[in-house]
Amino acid sequence: MKRIVLLMGGVFVLATIAFAVWALGTAEVPGEQKFALDMNRLRQAATASGEPLPVAMEEFDIAHGEFPKAVVVSGAGLFEKNDMVFRTHILGYANGDTVVIDPVHNGAQHQQLFGEGFNEKTWAFMQAALTNASLVLATHEHVDHVGGIAKSPSFASIAPHVKLTEEQINSFAIADADFAPADLQALIPLTYDDYYSPAPGIALKKAPGHSPGSQMIYVQLASGKEYLFIGDIAWSWDNILLQSGRARLVSRFFLGESQALVAAELAALDAVWQQGDVTIIVSHDPNEPQ
Ligand SMILES: [Zn+2]
Repeated sequence: MKRIVLLMGGVFVLATIAFAVWALGTAEVPGEQKFALDMNRLRQAATASGEPLPVAMEEFDIAHGEFPKAVVVSGAGLFEKNDMVFRTHILGYANGDTVVIDPVHNGAQHQQLFGEGFNEKTWAFMQAALTNASLVLATHEHVDHVGGIAKSPSFASIAPHVKLTEEQINSFAIADADFAPADLQALIPLTYDDYYSPAPGIALKKAPGHSPGSQMIYVQLASGKEYLFIGDIAWSWDNILLQSGRARLVSRFFLGESQALVAAELAALDAVWQQGDVTIIVSHDPNEPQ
């Protein structure tokens, strides 16, 4: 009897270790999946209208949080912490038009997700910017990228300028943003095929994987400076630099993302990084690559 108990205990411990190793692992990179990212097509789309490009871009840090690094970057140390920043970007044109990218969730949502680390003043500033924006875009439909729309005190007045894609609005992943059902229905979905320019100097590229509605947002300023907002394809620069995605634990069980698609996108982003002419914006990484 004792032996059987010991044997079962041993099997349980081994199974637990095997599960932990699997759960902290990720998809192979590069995998069989390929992601075609044509930077010149983005440049052409963004400048095709010939209209003036944005003259400025500002970044607003609205909240901070942290995750264990081992789930953010598969293979990272078990006890390392990974700082996460939550930020909104605002583009400005010479004629006064503005574009808001990724309006961050509100204080109550932050409390639920991360606890402390929310700046109410910056969020209020971002809300003021939303009410004046000519266009509001999101890299994807997760709460920390569209929560500022869902919880806007001026939803009715900003809604006509919100351009969430069809995939974002219809995604299971938008649920956590907690839109009032009537509000979500009031948004007119943006439909486009792979590449599309919603305004001068901006071009979108569909990039499903992290979520069904994930897209990259390319921005070119009048100065010639180029940016690529990649949303949460990477949570940390290390996902790109080490070509290692999130741990299966979060990918499969919390996000429901396609690790194979994310891995292919990480490979394409590494090529953009190597090229060196476009600044990649990794939404939640407060640090620049070393
Ligand atoms: Zn995010």
